[in-house]
Amino acid sequence: MGKNNSKKNKKTLTPAVFLDRDGTVIFDRNYLSSPKQVKLYAYAADSINKLRNAGFKVIVVTNQSGVGRGMFTQKDLKKVNDKFIFLLKKSGAKIDGLYYCPHIDEDKCLCRKPNTGMVLQAAKDHGIDLKNSYTVGDSVRDYLLGNNSGGKGVLVLTGHGKKQVEKVKNEKIKPLSVCKTLKHATELIINDAKKT
Ligand SMILES: [Mg+2]
Ligand SMILES: [Zn+2]
Repeated sequence: MGKNNSKKNKKTLTPAVFLDRDGTVIFDRNYLSSPKQVKLYAYAADSINKLRNAGFKVIVVTNQSGVGRGMFTQKDLKKVNDKFIFLLKKSGAKIDGLYYCPHIDEDKCLCRKPNTGMVLQAAKDHGIDLKNSYTVGDSVRDYLLGNNSGGKGVLVLTGHGKKQVEKVKNEKIKPLSVCKTLKHATELIINDAKKT
């Protein structure tokens, strides 16, 4: 092989915040299947902008087992995700990427959170520094994902979050923090990143 690969070493990686969708950025509707059900939390766009302005890529990673359970199709899911991105745009915010897992636990896939498939794919696609990245979500699965992918995870109390606090007690791995909402998680992450 030639030796002109010096440029490769210069590739800089960017930290990311991986956001859960339902119950974190939009209201949880229990197997949300129609674009009409998509409603952003009031602070969602502002939080995403703050994270991006602080130098993070913002990537949404969402478990959508409703597909695997036959409750809605990938086509329906695309319509929902398109509406989600449209509403963010209308509110002046943009995400860097969106990944979903359509599987159920029994599929034993590598992408259903807290498995790291979606995060690893995003890291490849977007050049992400996983060690300095964070996950935010309303489920134990979401903060474990942060841990499993070499970064840190934050649990929020919106969506299913309050019910999940009990489950945290039985987990060996704890979240970096439990935050009231994505707004609070955003502040926490920006401050935590300054420390490291
Ligand atoms: Mg959720
Ligand atoms: Zn999957």
